[in-house]
Amino acid sequence: MNSNEIEYLECDVLVIGSGGTGSQAVQGAAEEGLKVIVISKDPMSSSDTKICEGVITVRESGDTTDTKEILSENIKLAGADLPDNKITAAFANDSKSAYDRLRNNGLRPSINKEKNTPKTLAIAMGGHNKSRSVGHKNSGIAFGHTNWDTIIKYKNVNYYEDCWFLEVVKKEFQKNNNKDIEVLGGLIYDAARGKILFIKAPSVIIASGGLSSLYFPKTDTMRGNTGDSYALGIQAGADLIDMEQIQFLPFCLASPPSYEGLLAGEPSTASFLGVLRDKNKKIILDSVYLRTRAECSEAIMRAVEDGRGSPNGGAFLDMTKNMSAPKSGKYFMKYLKSALPSAYNNARQALGKEAGKAEIPWEVRPSAHYSMGGIRVDEYTRVIHSTENLYEPKIIKGLFAAGQAMGGLFGANRLGSTSLTELAVFGYRAGKSAAKNANQSTKHNNYDIFHENYMKFKNIFNKKGKLKAYKLKLDLQKKCWDNIGPARTEKKLKIMLSFLNKIEKDLKSINVPNEMIWNQQFIDFIELKNMIITAKAVTTASLKRDKSVGGHVRLDKKTSSLFSKPYSTLIKINKNNSFGAYKLFRKKTSLKRIINYKISEKFRFMKAKILRSLPESISDSIIENKYKNILGTNKTIIKPGSIDGASGDKVNQI
Ligand SMILES: Cc1cc2nc3c(=O)[nH]c(=O)nc-3n(C[C@H](O)[C@H](O)[C@H](O)COP(=O)(O)OP(=O)(O)OC[C@H]3O[C@@H](n4cnc5c(N)ncnc54)[C@H](O)[C@@H]3O)c2cc1C
Repeated sequence: MNSNEIEYLECDVLVIGSGGTGSQAVQGAAEEGLKVIVISKDPMSSSDTKICEGVITVRESGDTTDTKEILSENIKLAGADLPDNKITAAFANDSKSAYDRLRNNGLRPSINKEKNTPKTLAIAMGGHNKSRSVGHKNSGIAFGHTNWDTIIKYKNVNYYEDCWFLEVVKKEFQKNNNKDIEVLGGLIYDAARGKILFIKAPSVIIASGGLSSLYFPKTDTMRGNTGDSYALGIQAGADLIDMEQIQFLPFCLASPPSYEGLLAGEPSTASFLGVLRDKNKKIILDSVYLRTRAECSEAIMRAVEDGRGSPNGGAFLDMTKNMSAPKSGKYFMKYLKSALPSAYNNARQALGKEAGKAEIPWEVRPSAHYSMGGIRVDEYTRVIHSTENLYEPKIIKGLFAAGQAMGGLFGANRLGSTSLTELAVFGYRAGKSAAKNANQSTKHNNYDIFHENYMKFKNIFNKKGKLKAYKLKLDLQKKCWDNIGPARTEKKLKIMLSFLNKIEKDLKSINVPNEMIWNQQFIDFIELKNMIITAKAVTTASLKRDKSVGGHVRLDKKTSSLFSKPYSTLIKINKNNSFGAYKLFRKKTSLKRIINYKISEKFRFMKAKILRSLPESISDSIIENKYKNILGTNKTIIKPGSIDGASGDKVNQI
């Protein structure tokens, strides 16, 4: 082995990823005075966090009647009762302090001048039962800069960019039928310098984002979302949960090619009168602004599968009624432009002027956006692996996961604006938990296991073969959309499994040159392998979940009811190296609470229906008044309980 190619490093806490989660994890650990290393394959802080819309859930920000319990229950029931109660409670509990921390780090929200508080969105995002989504003028850039500033401000933090984390190094002790796992650090490929880093660390935090690149080009996310988090996690021994639950954002662009996949709007974009139509102009979904993302995506994909889709495999978001209303029409345009400015700009540029004025419907198609499933953790972000008994799991000592990498918070559906809160809450928690573990750990004193583990990666360099990893990636991405995308059947899932078995064998025949500096073929190989593992977890979980729920649409099965016993799917690697799929039953919310939730949901839909069915002169005046209130041009505040659409209570001012 060429000794120059290896660099030996040590730290207390090793963070994988420098997006929102990574930077919050860094802060949590660095504040404790520990030595932290953060590595990322993208340039520092470049991430989904940096390209996001910049809308974040802050409890009580738009409605003083909001509480921890209401927020926690909203997340849980919108997620079909699959989320873990302790995790949703932690989210609701920390949501305000986490946002204050981001502001202390330099994040600047748009301000409601009358109240001198952060502005919340004009209409609550689909599925939220309170107004609590705060916007930021420079969208994700505002978050990206804050994250960068956070990482570089600590002297005890070192960062490495253009570095691919390859494997969590660990040791295992067999105890009776179960094993204990302890983390020793990580192996990293530093592409820019052509080095392999052996980093000893008692605590490793997986903050390396999601998997949406499985569906490229039908995704609005960064290309680096190759499922590395989940592949690293499951290979380190972790359980993965709810991997079938992928969020497909309903209103993304299908054309032209340079805009394909990009975000055009949210359910709330549709405003009071927007509907979804199929190619025959038939309404396939009304009250769109009250719907969750999952409901909208499902309606579109069912029309597509039924042969009623738009030319590019989507449907039409028709907002023309909002626009043509005599009095309220002019306010709608102001609303449309200000609600999600960068999404609106994408739509106007891609679809043209008339569409920009909402004079014609927008062709929209779902895009892969977010993974609700992920690594099984507890509320302190400690990674869990199950024993023979799924309900008596063990902690993997020294391993933590947060942000999009973790599962358990959102279950079957994530409400808009909650991911930025997730990363702030759990990224920071991960930093604190990792610091605590590092303080309690004795240092591991040699690199022997690192050398042993590195051999399998070393053998990938200089691999002679006829196949190219980047081409196989493209094949895999197409198969993922067709078979484990937003419309699934048992037949498609089985096709996917056999494709995955084949492509796994193809890995042996991939060509990788013997070059240490920026070896793109090596990188493609590693990412392809992670994508295969992750796609296998998604497929296996999708077969286990034999009903439609949330982000998992089974065209060949019924939709599961909120009244049935909720369970998460659990995937783990069995002793024989196969992927095992199990049901992990969740604590069910009391019947009374579910009924209350359902009634308030029905009530909101009923109010929307009444509004639509009133004579136009009356509904137009009501809507005009609403816009005046939510756009801040009317001093009258709508009273709680009036017909206001999304939140069912006071409409916040923008
Ligand atoms: C267009 C868009 C708009 C959005 N808008 C919103 C919004 O308004 N509100 C909201 O709440 N959410 C929004 N989201 C979702 C949200 O932005 C993301 O879910 C969130 O930022 C994920 O944060 P993260 O830190 O977990 O991952 P990321 O921010 O994606 O960071 C992942 C990091 O891991 C690194 N990494 C990955 N693999 C490896 C590896 N093998 N080795 C080393 N490093 C690795 C990457 O380089 C990166 O630094 C949006 C997402 C998109 C794409």
